[in-house]
Amino acid sequence: MQNFEETGINSQIIKAISELGFEKPTPIQELTIPYLLDSKKDLVALAQTGTGKTAAFGLPILHQIDKNSKKTQALILSPTRELCMQISNDIKTYAKYIENVRIATIYGGASADKQIAELNKGCQIVVGTPGRVLDLVKRGKLRAGSISYMILDEADEMLDMGFKDELDSILETTPADKQTLLFSATMPKEIAKIAKKYMREADEIAVGDKNMGAENVKHHYYLAKARDRFKTLKRIIDSHPQIYSIVFCRTRRDTKEIADKLIENGYNAEALHGDLSQAQRDYVMNRFRIKHMQILVATDVAARGLDVTDLTHVINYNIPDEAKTYIHRSGRTGRAGKTGISVILLHSRELYKLREIEKRVGKKITRKMIPTGKEICERQLFNLIDKVEKIDVDQAQIDPFMDVIYKKLSWLTREELINHFVSIEFNRFLSYYKNAPDLNINENESDRKEKDSRKGRKRRDNDNFTRFFINIGSKKKLSPVKLMGLINDQTKKRDIQIGKIDIMKTFSFFEVDKSFENDVVSAFKDFKYKGMNVSIEVAKEKPQNDRSNNNRDRRKKFSNKKSRKRRDKR
Ligand code: ADP
Ligand code: MG
Repeated sequence: MQNFEETGINSQIIKAISELGFEKPTPIQELTIPYLLDSKKDLVALAQTGTGKTAAFGLPILHQIDKNSKKTQALILSPTRELCMQISNDIKTYAKYIENVRIATIYGGASADKQIAELNKGCQIVVGTPGRVLDLVKRGKLRAGSISYMILDEADEMLDMGFKDELDSILETTPADKQTLLFSATMPKEIAKIAKKYMREADEIAVGDKNMGAENVKHHYYLAKARDRFKTLKRIIDSHPQIYSIVFCRTRRDTKEIADKLIENGYNAEALHGDLSQAQRDYVMNRFRIKHMQILVATDVAARGLDVTDLTHVINYNIPDEAKTYIHRSGRTGRAGKTGISVILLHSRELYKLREIEKRVGKKITRKMIPTGKEICERQLFNLIDKVEKIDVDQAQIDPFMDVIYKKLSWLTREELINHFVSIEFNRFLSYYKNAPDLNINENESDRKEKDSRKGRKRRDNDNFTRFFINIGSKKKLSPVKLMGLINDQTKKRDIQIGKIDIMKTFSFFEVDKSFENDVVSAFKDFKYKGMNVSIEVAKEKPQNDRSNNNRDRRKKFSNKKSRKRRDKR
């Protein structure tokens, strides 16, 4: 489909969206708009973040509502206040040239009175968060009994945020013959259940990897020691002077800590997390939106409501445990036809998670080398020179000062002058990155060495590791990293301390924290690896560590014959 005219939506709407720069429908819009103009059947529409889902349901609904009636005809539920505001602002913009359309936005954390007053004026379209909507439905202020369209936007997020009961209760109050539309980025079991329970023979439209977001996103990772994570972040930021980015962290605490450190280091950054008041969040988000701030450090939940279309980078300070989270995060860049980069900071013990995400994203995540101090200085310098070259000079304004300035600088040659002004901005980087070490590590070099030496003393003192034998080895392409991945995956625990690993040809040994011994045994019961039955058992004896030349571990020598034979095979 080349243009919006072919979808069948009316010219007033087309005029409004052309002004927004929408030239042709996105893939999901191309499918849903003609469908919704034509069919009254329920619909599940799946497409990733940034693919234009708001217009995908907003345009056909706007086209079809009865402007002469003041009854609520469409109810749109969305997980957060910010998303609700965004959706209603978007729809208001699409409705710019249509008369008599009212859209109410209702969400918690703000006075209900104003929202009720708005509803009383008669709004054909209501956009709201599940909690407040249910509240107003129960109080008889919002009449959902008359609606023709029920839209669940970001249904997966609403479930993640625990709105299932509210959704259930709201859906129960709506008429049976309405059309229900469910928009989601992913289709977890819960969504399928909702679809089954509340939708009648719903059709499904899915736009896979074709969405415009994914096409425009490059996926990169940087490998460094865990303790160099922050330094790595700094280098990435420093090597992109024009960066405009969200840095995602796991917890509020991380978010605060990293934002604080960035600010201390002179970056234009701020934290966004759940501990902030609504007013503080609005303030931070707004500063970021209008680009008074370059780097926003946020938790997933807090960043949900933020719509910025032109992020240059999304940075995963830690690799997320779930591929779904990564997909959501990376979908925040490469939007609306722009290109973006999604970055993961990784240490080698996490490599297995990367493979998992690659599978889900369906794209290779490319390793990038952490820039050296010299490379960073070079980029910063060129950025500065570029700015100097392109700056608008307002001759009339500066003329009165120039005489004095020329006189003052007259003792410098042209070359000297350039050297001086370059040094003004540049000395900071030069001195910071003077003798800066290479932070890159190779894929097989793990943090283990470092951890081992830290843990070493403890281990020798109370020997609190259990040593396991496992019947797979390098012949089955097992590596220490893979084995650690297996242990984490099978036990579903991330905090197990893993000790020494010895990979032999057809079998291996590994050590785990004694307190997890039973977990490991039961986790590997009936486990198959590359079609092979895996058996593990607690190893009775410990082999001599003949590969490493340090004698830190005063281990018993391998004495039993069978084991010695095994070892000799290596
Ligand atoms: P989603 O809900 O799928 O995450 P949005 O509806 O928020 O995505 O849209 C993402 C961005 O793409 C918005 O800035 C929106 O204005 C823009 N957009 C939507 N449809 C089009 C289109 N047809 N052409 C250009 N930009 C579009
Ligand atoms: Mg959306």
